[in-house]
Amino acid sequence: MLTVGLTGGIGSGKSTVSALLASHGAVIIDYDKLAREVVEPGSPALQAIAERFGSGVIAADGTLDRPALGAVVFADESARRDLEAITHPAIRDLAVARQLAAGDDAIVIHDNPLLVEMGAAAHCDVVVVVDVPVDLQVERLKATRDMSEDEARSRIATQASRQERTGAADLLIDNTGPIDELDSIVGGVWDELVLRAAAAEGAGRDSAL
Ligand code: ADP
Repeated sequence: MLTVGLTGGIGSGKSTVSALLASHGAVIIDYDKLAREVVEPGSPALQAIAERFGSGVIAADGTLDRPALGAVVFADESARRDLEAITHPAIRDLAVARQLAAGDDAIVIHDNPLLVEMGAAAHCDVVVVVDVPVDLQVERLKATRDMSEDEARSRIATQASRQERTGAADLLIDNTGPIDELDSIVGGVWDELVLRAAAAEGAGRDSAL
């Protein structure tokens, strides 16, 4: 097995890269999905969130009211840290279970927007970072997610800086070009991951002898 951390700032193109890697045969662990799973009704994390943030963040049907919680945590760093202290351990546990289920031959992608922020990069064999300048992140968020300039910039400001993220990279994907260029860059990254997986397997066999 080869474990790969994939990250990128919001709007950088990380999800697009993840989908391309899946089409090559990677097993994807999508942390945005895990983040939703751990707060499903009845979960310990949702209970803890209700205790910390009050019933105003729980919708009438018992699910998490994401916009209400978002309004609190994106405006208040200590509230965000409290939320992360509740959800991140649960997300990590679920990710470990998914990785174990993937099988020995898998190339497993930890598709995690907060890979660097969670300190998870160190636990991956390879870290892949999708990189664009902040102004291009803002431009793509405005064009595709209906965000205002201010909204986009304040969301970006809650994440690791471009420098922190690229500093953690083993393989850097420059996504400033058009989509078809990204397609061929990701093809090259996949070939490299396959080589590294084979090398890791060979090394494992040698040490087992
Ligand atoms: P992230 O997962 O990093 O937030 P996405 O993969 O969702 O980013 O990409 C954000 C938006 O930008 C999407 O609508 C996507 O289709 C678009 N996009 C991604 N890469 C490119 C590119 N190279 N050129 C133009 N648009 C792109």
